Amino acid sequence: MKKIVLLGSTGSIGVNTLKVIKNFPELFEVNALTANTNIDLLEKQIYEFNPKVVVVINSEKAAALRKRISNKCEILDGDKAILDITKRDNYDILVSSLVGFAGLKPTIEGIKLGKRIALANKETLVAAGELINNLCEKYDAELLPIDSEHSAIFQCLVGENHKEIRKIILTASGGPFLSKTKEELKNVTIAEALNHPNWDMGNKVTIDSATMMNKGLEVIEARWLFEIPKEKIEIVIHPQSIIHSMIEFVDGSIKAQLSLPDMKLPIQYALTYPKRLPSNFVTTNLPELHKLTFYEPDMKKFKTLQLAYQALGEGGTAPCVLNAANEIAVNKFLNGKIKFTQIAEIITESLEKFETIAHPELETIFDYDYRSREYAKGLFN
Ligand code: MG
Repeated sequence: MKKIVLLGSTGSIGVNTLKVIKNFPELFEVNALTANTNIDLLEKQIYEFNPKVVVVINSEKAAALRKRISNKCEILDGDKAILDITKRDNYDILVSSLVGFAGLKPTIEGIKLGKRIALANKETLVAAGELINNLCEKYDAELLPIDSEHSAIFQCLVGENHKEIRKIILTASGGPFLSKTKEELKNVTIAEALNHPNWDMGNKVTIDSATMMNKGLEVIEARWLFEIPKEKIEIVIHPQSIIHSMIEFVDGSIKAQLSLPDMKLPIQYALTYPKRLPSNFVTTNLPELHKLTFYEPDMKKFKTLQLAYQALGEGGTAPCVLNAANEIAVNKFLNGKIKFTQIAEIITESLEKFETIAHPELETIFDYDYRSREYAKGLFN
């Protein structure tokens, strides 16, 4: 029986993770759940999965939940409580699916205990990839991707020699604005940007998909997960989201992983690896799909892609700045403070503002994250 700590249980990855866990009651048990504010859903999850402890970040909501469920389980509140539960050495797998830079600290706690980390929080590797890899080695922790593209690459690598990779091909749906012109992008609305064609996800990653920053972040994530230089990571637009990513090997052979888009597949694989276990989450009917198409990404239209490659090239603290500026910019867009195309402008200005420090320690990363956020907050007001 594997005990699971699930960070962000009321978000889209969290909800899907619980569906996977429910499918294998003899294999997995929920040790801890966390939520920001959605105590209605969390309460249902408590009754269904019987965690020992839950964290509600918002303390008023935590107090309300305590009144409702009294002694059913321990209820903690505040950001720090998330660290407390990840430090308790009473679990086997940490599912790290908080949104944004907030996922970094708790993920590190899981790594320090040498746990299996099922990682959905790509910002952790974007901001601190080198450091995370070093820590995983030091503490013998196992980092398994939940991000569908990286799970695909991870699956394609099984039985292969890492040295024989010619390139990684990350597929991208292209998001809702694939067919819009650069000019038209200036005036897209929040609702249009939130309307993703293939995946039902949280707001942050959905906006990242619309700007294509999501793919930029995934390039950086792949660089660290698979120890591959950026020159060997390519993006191809594949609007159907059936091929989740590919590897081209040195002999020209390409391996791909396919299915209808459903996050429960990469989640299950990260939990059960190296085993594949039977489940009926998706059935992919190829004749019904008719065709799969591929295009080159338009780096001029989606400037965030350029910016991500640029930050990865600079290395050190640059991806951390990129990520922090992006988080603030996405927030501003969602609050109606800036136009869609200003997201990339905020990131551009932030990257120009901060000098890069190579091989940053954790303290430096937190410092850069904080200062980049403050700087980005001050832009376009
Ligand atoms: Mg992805």
